Amino acid sequence: MHNQKRILVTGGAGFLGSHLCERLVENGNNVLCLDNFFTGTKRNISHLFGKPNFELIRHDLVQPVLIETDAIYNLACPASPIHYQYNPVKTVKTSVMGAIHMLGLAKRVKAKILQASTSEIYGNPTVHPQSETYQGNVNTIGPRSCYDEGKRCAETLFFDYHRQNQVNIRVVRIFNTYGPRMHPNDGRVVSNFIVQALTNKDITVFGDGSQTRSFCYVNDMIEGIVRMMEGSDAFIGPVNLGNPEEVSVLELAEKIIDLTGTQSKIVFQPLPQDDPVQRQPDIQLAKEKLNWKPFIQLESGLKNTIDYFDQILTQC
Ligand code: NAD
Ligand code: UDP
Repeated sequence: MHNQKRILVTGGAGFLGSHLCERLVENGNNVLCLDNFFTGTKRNISHLFGKPNFELIRHDLVQPVLIETDAIYNLACPASPIHYQYNPVKTVKTSVMGAIHMLGLAKRVKAKILQASTSEIYGNPTVHPQSETYQGNVNTIGPRSCYDEGKRCAETLFFDYHRQNQVNIRVVRIFNTYGPRMHPNDGRVVSNFIVQALTNKDITVFGDGSQTRSFCYVNDMIEGIVRMMEGSDAFIGPVNLGNPEEVSVLELAEKIIDLTGTQSKIVFQPLPQDDPVQRQPDIQLAKEKLNWKPFIQLESGLKNTIDYFDQILTQC
């Protein structure tokens, strides 16, 4: 195949990873998906099993692995608070040891490597919107710290391997992303509200729902991630990727009630500790350097996601 690259996607059976594998396979690359199936599922990638340029390996990134590859997208890490808090020590190990193992591999086989970092590295931000120069407001010892600090340390490792060993790195800071193939029990707000609405259960708004998030549809996000990996070696990031369309959690609940026509009622539950009050990406840098911006508006992205959950819930 013309210009065929070998690409390793860690966390490839997860929500974002499966969309990324699909995109890279479609582009004619040889894709190796690595996953331990903690939050990912075979269902997410089963449509790729018959393709000659797709392979799957079950492996836990806390253990080293030697694979010949030209590029690595490092996505392995649970992303939903309930899952990353389930075994916080393991979450730190996945972020930190996973980064060390993948950076060591990249150094050894001279592969380009991209880290899926997160808006969580900004913590509960005191600057709004958040640009890449903001250094964050993160609790080192709270329930979210295993994820936030693990991801911060991974960024540190990426930049140290780059400076010390000339590893060709990219770092993207992903803001809240949603879409088909989120796990129905994922626990993040969009999937929770949609599944609750479709099953006529109470919609669980934490706190008073005034906290904000900015939600990016998965296709837009994958486009940004691939552009960053394939862009100039002179721009390694970190770069914010996300949709600046900011909504409160209560507005999101009301929108989903409207779009599904559900009988569900909103109920208010306690706000989890350290839950960020507001979050909105400044994406000026991505616009300038990658000529990237999201196109899919919240309402149309939510409709696609509702259709997806409607299908899988009727199959269950
Ligand atoms: P996800 O939970 O659906 O996917 C994570 C994948 O990593 C799963 O398939 C899981 O089984 C796998 N995994 C976890 N620990 C592993 C380990 N030790 N070894 C091998 N595989 C392991 O989450 P997602 O939303 O697809 O997130 C993918 C990446 O993007 C994560 O690194 C996450 O931190 C980052 N991110 C996502 C968002 C978002 O809104 N979706 C926002 C910021 C950052
Ligand atoms: N949230 C909520 N109800 C839920 C799940 C989440 O109100 O059933 C809130 C949560 O408290 C947070 C926001 O929605 O303020 C986004 O939560 P999510 O877990 O999706 O992501 P993160 O907090 O990591 O941005």
